[in-house]
Amino acid sequence: MSINIPQSSLPRVVIAGGGFGGLKLAQELDSRHFQVILIDHHNYHQFPPLIYQVASSGLEPSSIAFPFRSALRKKTGFVFRLAEVQGVAPERNLLLTSVGEVKYDYLILACGGTTNFFGNDQIARHSLPMKTLYESMNLRNVLLQNIEKALVSDDEERRNALLTVAIVGGGPSGVEIAGALAEMKRYVLPKDYPYLDSSLFRIHLLDASPRLLQAMSERSSETAARGLREMGVEIHTGTMVSDYDGKTLRLSDGSEMKTRTVIWVSGIVANAVEGIQAEALGRGRRILVDEHNEVKGLTNVFAIGDQCLMTADANYPNGHPQLAQVAIQQARLLARNLRARQEGKPLSPFHYKDLGSMATIGRNRAVAEIRGAKWGGFTAWMLWLVVHLRSILSVRNKVIVLLNWIWNYVTYDRSLRLILKRNIPVEPYHQREQRERREHEE
Ligand SMILES: Cc1cc2nc3c(=O)[nH]c(=O)nc-3n(C[C@H](O)[C@H](O)[C@H](O)COP(=O)(O)OP(=O)(O)OC[C@H]3O[C@@H](n4cnc5c(N)ncnc54)[C@H](O)[C@@H]3O)c2cc1C
Repeated sequence: MSINIPQSSLPRVVIAGGGFGGLKLAQELDSRHFQVILIDHHNYHQFPPLIYQVASSGLEPSSIAFPFRSALRKKTGFVFRLAEVQGVAPERNLLLTSVGEVKYDYLILACGGTTNFFGNDQIARHSLPMKTLYESMNLRNVLLQNIEKALVSDDEERRNALLTVAIVGGGPSGVEIAGALAEMKRYVLPKDYPYLDSSLFRIHLLDASPRLLQAMSERSSETAARGLREMGVEIHTGTMVSDYDGKTLRLSDGSEMKTRTVIWVSGIVANAVEGIQAEALGRGRRILVDEHNEVKGLTNVFAIGDQCLMTADANYPNGHPQLAQVAIQQARLLARNLRARQEGKPLSPFHYKDLGSMATIGRNRAVAEIRGAKWGGFTAWMLWLVVHLRSILSVRNKVIVLLNWIWNYVTYDRSLRLILKRNIPVEPYHQREQRERREHEE
């Protein structure tokens, strides 16, 4: 089935996935030389670094998302199709999607990754991932609903479980959501729920490794842990989760934690694309590419960003970290390399330039490491704010995010605590009480 793409005499570049890598590539390709087709299963580009603020009611989803059609409106001949990428048939130069097949001259796989539950279906079913806007809204709804349920529960054990949040994964996402929830506990809960003892709201941050923020220095890791502890977060390093059934989180040392909210930010696995041979897949299902991002064993098929694994960069023999800057820099170079290939010129190899890393802990607190220099506290927090504000797409979104931040900072509040999913039980309350008592006894 064709998907009605206009004919063009230009070579066609099909980009699968409009995240940091795919969108940057679409922006960089010159429409005088290529016909650019972007396929994504969302009609918007999202900004993952601020997803935790959507989950914790600090920002609305629309302020960190931007429609592809607006983002690329000025690009002549640009085509966007909303579709699920399903596979590739390289022998016929076809990308297979949920709405039909797309012929390509060059195919770029930029579908990123998804949450890795390490094969544990039960954890996948009951815990809350936080990689997409949809997931962050779901997480926000569950968090707020659990507080509401706790308010009307007279079973102490159930109430405590509803008010206990376990965050699994001590990387930047885990640290940031822990800090945001700790601020919610300190500043928002006492105002919104004056009859709730907010000390019952407990936030646990668990990680299997010996320290938080493994990718940063020990100094930043200690600063983050100290900051979070001061804010009331209970940190459990060297602690592996073995199972979660929706009520009890089981840890590998045999201990248990009763909780109704497990936020899983512990791993990533590349999104799968049918038709890529097993020999071309590496660690974390990432697609193996050479120094030009061309997929192992294929011609004119490239993969960039989180979905690929390049071991040819001398400074990163085990592959690059799965970060926005890697995807963006690969996209920039690939745009130049596609032009070079068109002209029969040699391609340039990719070398990642590390621009630094940072994580925010809370109000006036963050850690940042840029080119060997390390900051903690207010300076790092200001740096974090500026870097993230600059990176958000569109002036409108920048203004909205900035205003929200100012509002939250000045008022110590978060204005967006709407529960947008109706989940009031339809079962009569006396029947529900009996059922819950039965379940509790079982
Ligand atoms: C919560 C969170 C916070 C983060 N914070 C930071 C940070 O602070 N700094 C940093 O550098 N990095 C951060 N990252 C990592 C960073 O977001 C990724 O490294 C980066 O997005 C990778 O870019 P990409 O283009 O490879 O993939 P993505 O940006 O993930 O884009 C993939 C695109 O493909 C689309 N897609 C996926 N599957 C399909 C399919 N089957 N069909 C059609 N479309 C599909 C998606 O909709 C998406 O638009 C964070 C990630 C998360 C999840």
